[in-house]
Order: sequence, then structure tokens, then C-alpha cells
Amino acid sequence: MPALEAKSALVTGGGSGIGRATCELFAREGARLIVADIDKEAAEQTADLVRAEGGEARVVVADVNRVEQVTAMVAAAIETYGRLDCAVNNVGISASQVGAGGQRVGDISEEAWERLICVNLTSVWRCMKYELLAMERSGGGAIVNIASIAGLVGLPGAHGYVASKHGVVGLTKAAAMDHAAAGIRVNAVCPGYIDTPMRANSWVSPERPIITRPAMKRTGKTDEVAGGVLWLCSDQASFVTGTTLAIDGGYTS
Ligand code: NAD
Repeated sequence: MPALEAKSALVTGGGSGIGRATCELFAREGARLIVADIDKEAAEQTADLVRAEGGEARVVVADVNRVEQVTAMVAAAIETYGRLDCAVNNVGISASQVGAGGQRVGDISEEAWERLICVNLTSVWRCMKYELLAMERSGGGAIVNIASIAGLVGLPGAHGYVASKHGVVGLTKAAAMDHAAAGIRVNAVCPGYIDTPMRANSWVSPERPIITRPAMKRTGKTDEVAGGVLWLCSDQASFVTGTTLAIDGGYTS
């Protein structure tokens, strides 16, 4: 039986990279999807890929920084599929995307710091808030937050990103404790360097030792991350909550 047979799943940032690969894999495993993204065209492309493989997907244009758009996103899942079983909070931006790549604490602007915390941490809290309420109403569910190896260890030149992702890991652990009794599991995936558009724009070039440090000495593929997200959302992981799954080729080992 497919791992997510008849389940409904919402993926934020579903228009690209890890989010897109997660949508495609979830659909192949039987899930009915809400592909949420700020970029309508990108989300439509993901939905087309899902439908081309026989899957079901609805696009919701939502900026995870806007509470009314997040509530509308969760409401769309309930309206379309009757319940929300799985949610993947995947939106994140790199230090480079706010012009802070390579900067140390003394260098970063207030604006860049606040943007990293807002997009990478506060938005995960906001999405979880409404996802948890929906899941509680329907008797349970599974949430996976996409953190990073930067949520487990320090990385040079990216302290705002590192702080935001450590926050995601802490939020995941605390929420798991608070919502286990309601039948909701909350876990985090911590990818290493993965080949996506975000990576391509990073200040960390592929030749740097930071990339070749992992035991496996290569970057990862989006499918390799999606596989871990799928497992955590599936009933195979029914006794797993509050954990962090590093998918990093051995980077943090
Ligand atoms: P990506 O840039 O390829 O995709 C991000 C998606 O999020 C895009 O479709 C974008 O339109 C969307 N998005 C951005 N801001 C948004 C907003 N405010 N509201 C809604 N959608 C928004 O990124 P990716 O590399 O696939 O990264 C996905 C997640 O994985 C992020 O949280 C990132 O921090 C994390 N991660 C990535 C890597 C990596 O090497 N790529 C490593 C570790 C962790």
C-alpha cells in the first residue's frame, strides 16, 4: 500500500527544490496535495508535474509571512480534502538571499537579521499554529519542518541562518511535546548541501571545503531529502516525534 494512501498533505515552498521533490514523491505515494508557494507559476509547474503522474494537487498562492494567507492556505486544505493529515513547512531563505552571505555578527544589518528570523523561523511557527489547530480538530496528523545542518551545528558566514534553523529545531522539539497527546507528531529534517536553486545562489561555492567535508564528499539530491520527509510523515514513523533527521551525507557525523 502506498505510504500516504488517501492522506491530504500541504507543502509550503512547494514550487521549487526540496518542496517540489516532496510534492512529487508524496503524490506517488498516494497523497492529495496542497502546493503552497509565493510564486504562482512555480507552484503551478509543480502541480502539473504531480498531475502528469496521475496525482491530485491544488495550488495555493500564499506568503508564509502573512497570517491571513497562512490561514487561507490551511482552510484550502480542509475545503478541498476535508482534513489535513500531513504538513511540510519547507520555506526558507539563505543568508545570501538577504545579502548577508559570509557576514559575521558585527557585519549584518538589522534588516537582514530580521528577515532571516522572520522567513525561516517565525513563518514555521505561524504555519504550525494553524496546521496544529486543523489537525487537532480531525484527530491527529504529522508535521515535518525543514531545518538544516545549520540547525545542528555552526556554519561560517551564516550566523543569522544558523540561529534561525536552530530555532526551528527547538520549536519542533517543544511542539512535539505539547501535541503528542492530540495524536500529532512533529519532526524536523536537517538537510546538508542539496542541489537546488537556493544552493546555486549561495555564497558557498561548490569547490569550498565546506561542501566536500561530508563523509560522502558530494552534495545531495532533492529526492534524497524527500525520502526522509515521506518516512517521517508516514505511519512507519508512528513512534517518532520531536526528532531531527539529518540527511547530510555524513556532514554532522
Ligand atoms: P528553493 O529556493 O529552491 O525553494 C524555496 C521555495 O520557497 C521557492 O519556490 C520560493 O518561491 C518559496 N518561497 C520563498 N519565500 C516564500 C514565502 N515567503 N512564502 C511562500 N513561499 C516562499 O529552496 P530549497 O533549497 O529547496 O530549500 C527548501 C528548504 O530547505 C529551506 O527551508 C532551506 O533553508 C532548507 N535547506 C536547503 C538546503 C540546500 O542546500 N538547498 C540545505 C539545508 C536546508
